[in-house]
Amino acid sequence: MLSGMQPSGRMHLGNLLGALENWIRYQQEYDAYFFVADWHALSTNYADTSRIREYIREMLIDWLSAGIDPSRCTVFIQSRVPDHAVLHLLFSMITPIPWLERNPTYKEKMEELRERDLTSYGFLGYPVLQSADILIYKADVVPVGVDQLPHLELTRELARRFNNLYSTVFPEPQPLLTEVPKLVGTDGRKMSKSYNNAIYLSDSEKDLREKLRTMVTDPARVRRTDPGDPDICPVFSYHKIFSEVGVVDRVNTECRTAAIGCIDCKKLVGDRMVRRLEPIWEAREKWVGHPRKLEAVVAEGSEKAAKVAAQTIEEVREAIKL
Ligand code: SF4
Repeated sequence: MLSGMQPSGRMHLGNLLGALENWIRYQQEYDAYFFVADWHALSTNYADTSRIREYIREMLIDWLSAGIDPSRCTVFIQSRVPDHAVLHLLFSMITPIPWLERNPTYKEKMEELRERDLTSYGFLGYPVLQSADILIYKADVVPVGVDQLPHLELTRELARRFNNLYSTVFPEPQPLLTEVPKLVGTDGRKMSKSYNNAIYLSDSEKDLREKLRTMVTDPARVRRTDPGDPDICPVFSYHKIFSEVGVVDRVNTECRTAAIGCIDCKKLVGDRMVRRLEPIWEAREKWVGHPRKLEAVVAEGSEKAAKVAAQTIEEVREAIKL
C-alpha cells in the first residue's frame, strides 16, 4: 500500500482525521509506504521553493507524532529515491497526451490557481509521476478519495499499456476508498490553512482553547438565554467527533433549551480535544529540536524504498530491453 502527501507544512485536525488516522490503521494492515511528495509540490509551486524544506520537516514531525511508526512502515521522501524519476520518464514515452488532457483535475486546478502559470509540462504530467510513484513499489492498493479515482484509473491504464507493450511487470492497483469525515474550521467553513481557520496538531493547549473561544456557534443564539440549534453549530460538529455519546446527547438537548451556554459547551469539547491531542503533543517533544533523529528515520526509509524501486527498475529495463 502506498500513499503520499505534498509537503504543505503543519498538519491540522482535518488532515489528522481525513488522512493520518487512516494511515495509522493501514500501517497495521498492510506493508505500507508513506512518502513526502516533494517533486509533486513543484508541479504547482515551482516558482517559490523557499519554504519547502521547512514544510517537509514540519509535516514529517506531525506524521510521526500522530502515530506513524517507522518500525511498522516505510517513511521516505520522494526526491531521495531518484528511480521515481526514471520510471516517470519511461512512462512518459508511452503516455498519450490526450490521456492527460482529459484528466478532470487538470483543468479544474488550472482554474483554481489562475494566478500561477500552470502550462508547464510537469503539471500536465503530474499523473504520470503519480503512476510511477505507485507502480515502482508495485502497490496493490492506494487509499484515495473519490476525486482521485481518475488518477488511479490512469495508473491502471499505464500499467496495462506497459505490460502489453513489453511484458507483465506491474499489477493494476485498486483504490482503497477512504471515508473522510468533514471537519469544519473555526469559522464554520471547511478547515483549511488558506482560510486561516485551522486548528493545528502543533497548537498548544492555550492556542486550542483560544481558537475554540472565538469559534462561531449558532449565529441566532445571541444571548445566553436564547435556545440554540446544534445542527447548524460548528462546535456541535466537533462534539460529534471528539465527545462521548452521553456528552453529545446532553449538548444536543441542553442547547435547544438554553440549559447550557456556549462557553460551557466549548469547555466540554475543549477538554475532550485536549485529551485526544495530548499524546500527539507529548510525542512532538521527541522530534522537535532533534533534526538528526528525524533525518535517521527518513534516511532509513528512503534507503529501503530505493532498494525496492531499484529492483522494479531492473525488471523494467529487462522488459524494455534497455
Ligand atoms: S451551546 Fe454548544 S452547540 Fe449550542 S450553540 Fe452554543 S456552542 Fe453551539
